[in-house]
Amino acid sequence: MIDKIENLAGFACHAAQSRGRRHPEPDAPTRTAFQRDRDRIVHSTAFRRLVYKTQVFLNHEGDLFRTRLTHSLEVAQLARSIARALRLNEDLVEAIALAHDLGHTPFGHAGQDALNQCMATHMDEWGGFEHNLQSLRVVDALEERYPQYDGLNLTFETREGILKHCARRNAEHLEALEPGGVGRRFLDRTQPSLEAQLCNLADEIAYNAHDIDDGVRSGLITMEQLQAVPLFDGFHRQALAEHPGLQGRRVLFEAIRRMLSAQVYDVIDATQGMLQKVQPVTADDVRRHAPMVCFSHAMRENSSMLKTFLLSNLYRHPQVTQTTQQAQQVVRELFAAYLADPNEMQAGFAARSDMSRARVVADYIAGMTDRFAAREHERLSGRRLLA
Ligand code: MG
Repeated sequence: MIDKIENLAGFACHAAQSRGRRHPEPDAPTRTAFQRDRDRIVHSTAFRRLVYKTQVFLNHEGDLFRTRLTHSLEVAQLARSIARALRLNEDLVEAIALAHDLGHTPFGHAGQDALNQCMATHMDEWGGFEHNLQSLRVVDALEERYPQYDGLNLTFETREGILKHCARRNAEHLEALEPGGVGRRFLDRTQPSLEAQLCNLADEIAYNAHDIDDGVRSGLITMEQLQAVPLFDGFHRQALAEHPGLQGRRVLFEAIRRMLSAQVYDVIDATQGMLQKVQPVTADDVRRHAPMVCFSHAMRENSSMLKTFLLSNLYRHPQVTQTTQQAQQVVRELFAAYLADPNEMQAGFAARSDMSRARVVADYIAGMTDRFAAREHERLSGRRLLA
């Protein structure tokens, strides 16, 4: 009933036709299944921790930089705007976007790489450490909020969207635990829903834009350098042509704002073109086809050039890589310390015996905020690596 009011396209995910939850529950009286998923995510412990987790800049480096939380909110905003125009399910998109980074370790990709290296020498039933799989683990197993089950008991569609990538070995293991579940598409090589595809692209649009903003704010990249990036330069010129003499941060914001709008309209147009060509009738038609949420060819090129620019000038900036190395050392030394003495972990983790000790340690470290990890490292090593 609620879906009809929302006027969704046939190929959208309809809450009333959800494949359901792993532990069946009665419907809520006033909320769709996907609205309920979103609410469960917002109330989770892992969601609150995102505010103290690094996106690119370490949390203590400045109060105005993006964190995983503000990044997730920006992804949700962009994805919902696009979903509405395409008549996709906004609630599902919001749930996936808000949950997509729940499995991220402290210290961003640096922390994840270090934890993956640690786990590579401690193979258990899951291979290594993958942040997408960890996000699923958070909502399926690690959150402890309900009397009847572990995790948040989210719908298949939200979990499908959260598991963006998955190594074959882990997909096989997931399939064994949940036949025909969220691991299956990595074995069948089929696609997720349009809502899930959209969240992927909105993630890219969000971080490309906010990393320009944070990069300039930090002083690590300059407006002059950015003028070599065609996507940015075009909108920068446009902003100055319409507002001669505009200066400072307002020029930057105006260029970024125009760039974001153009990308949003580009995704809507390009995806509508694909939908008209393919003519999917249901969400399962979408899953059987090649990806349909996309940029135009020109925007794909422009976005890739911007990514390349940010990689070489921001993510690999000496100042960023220096803190990266320290963050990796913190994660490695924490891992070794807890592995040697599990009682150094909080009691609930120290007592777990239903999985390998290394996996318990990985779950414990992955859940940490940047500052908790730094404090724990100082407590265990007597050395302060990160301010
Ligand atoms: Mg993200």
